[in-house]
Amino acid sequence: MLHLQSDRKLSMSSADQEKAGDKPAPITVPAPLSSLEIKHTKIFINNEWHNSVSGKKFPVFNPATGEKICEIEEGDKEDVDKAVKAAREAFQFGSPWRRMDASQRGKILNKLADLIERDNLILSTMESIDAGKAFTSSYFGDIPGAVKSLRYCAGWADKNHGRTIPMDGDFFTFTRHEPVGVCGQIIPWNFPLVMFAWKIAPALCCGNTVVIKPAEQTPLTALYMGSLIKEAGIPPGVVNIVPGYGPTAGSAISHHMDIDKVAFTGSTEVGKLIKEAAGKSNLKRVTLELGGKSPVIIFADADLDNAIECAHQGLFYHQGQCCIAGSRIFVEESIYEEFVKKSVEKAKKRVLGDPLSPSTQQGPQIDQEQYDRILSLIESGKKEGAKLECGGGPWGNKGFYIQPTVFSDVKDDMRIAKEEIFGPVQQIMKFKNVEDVIKRANNTTYGLAAGVFTKDLNKAMTISAALQAGTVWINCYSAMSPQCPFGGFKMSGNGREMGEYGLHAYTEVKTITMKIPQKNS
Ligand code: ADP
Repeated sequence: MLHLQSDRKLSMSSADQEKAGDKPAPITVPAPLSSLEIKHTKIFINNEWHNSVSGKKFPVFNPATGEKICEIEEGDKEDVDKAVKAAREAFQFGSPWRRMDASQRGKILNKLADLIERDNLILSTMESIDAGKAFTSSYFGDIPGAVKSLRYCAGWADKNHGRTIPMDGDFFTFTRHEPVGVCGQIIPWNFPLVMFAWKIAPALCCGNTVVIKPAEQTPLTALYMGSLIKEAGIPPGVVNIVPGYGPTAGSAISHHMDIDKVAFTGSTEVGKLIKEAAGKSNLKRVTLELGGKSPVIIFADADLDNAIECAHQGLFYHQGQCCIAGSRIFVEESIYEEFVKKSVEKAKKRVLGDPLSPSTQQGPQIDQEQYDRILSLIESGKKEGAKLECGGGPWGNKGFYIQPTVFSDVKDDMRIAKEEIFGPVQQIMKFKNVEDVIKRANNTTYGLAAGVFTKDLNKAMTISAALQAGTVWINCYSAMSPQCPFGGFKMSGNGREMGEYGLHAYTEVKTITMKIPQKNS
């Protein structure tokens, strides 16, 4: 998944800042809350809190300690049915939501953004405890990122215009941009609040209603958002939040006959199931944002320090648990040794620890399953003959921590070069020329993101045109903002999220044609 940066200061690499002669302004990091009360553990439907129909609950754990944080009402098919009924009711023609001025929808979304800003400390602390996210990343990155996404979409609410069409004959034709209807939204655990905002903001600004399922590992900030949604004045039934597991609650959403559109972010494997479910049910519209194995190409003429820093952050940020992680780093032969040496020095300096500590750069992986999978991929790298430069095993004595790991001499056919690792494991490969590296970079089923580092504009432009990826960064990496559409080529997904393009998925275009009577007819 992704890495949102809160402002320009944070989005500049330290190398950029030094260059600009611009010493980074000191950032005051507040202390996380010392105690956090988890008030919202139920299913949110019609702006009210509900127990699960089955009476079941599921536990949520702190990945840094393995301790249980709380239990959450477990949504399943019957709860999804209740939520869809509420969302459908709220979407009825003539309902308060449908009659609300578009500008007012924008105002409410801005109000929601204000409330998130007000509660940044609560949300950041919660995200760190629930998702193992470094507190500073939450406080300065995720929470402001969610706010920006809401504000960006708030601005669109009254600007999603149709057109007039010069139709043949004596007709007046125009298009109306209408909401699609009830949107089912299924989100992952790596960016719980950002993903929540990325899903509800475009849906609501276009006038849709929502049934959203947070990931079972990280439901806390999504449920907290239920209380803010109510406080912001969003009418009942417009946003419904159903925590639960994928094969039950998630599957009920993707198969539902009364959901008009589903937006999913998660694994490619589950993305396929979502499309299949749409085909088997009501052909609901589907957008998918899936995995990646993104190439980062570094030429000998690049600003090496910047390239090393960006490649490092682009992989290790949030423990490598980002769909855009630049996990195949291709380095031109002549600078390969130096690049590896400096990348290893950087990786060794990463500070691991309690996500709530302001100095922590790397927290735990999300759960046992991910932890085991990452360690087994590391073992495969060792077995297949890649050179382990540093790391390569667990860290500490509790929680799901893994040492920052760097492999050099990686060959394209090794598992670590082909499979999405979703962990702090960097693969560095060598390349000889432009043609060779383009072919190798595109030799993957994925196509989410890519990076290219060079001072040669021709090379940068040629490569960015040739790469099969939804986003290409030149001399930077992970630079994202709500104005920019995001999504994948190939098996990294379908459709785009955010930016103006992102609104298309939440808009039905209706063509209205009126006969214009002529004087003599
Ligand atoms: P990961 O492997 O990173 O956990 P998943 O794709 O399994 O990613 O999960 C992303 C989201 O999809 C989560 O909210 C999860 O509950 C949900 N999910 C998992 N399986 C299914 C399924 N069969 N149908 C619908 N949603 C699912």
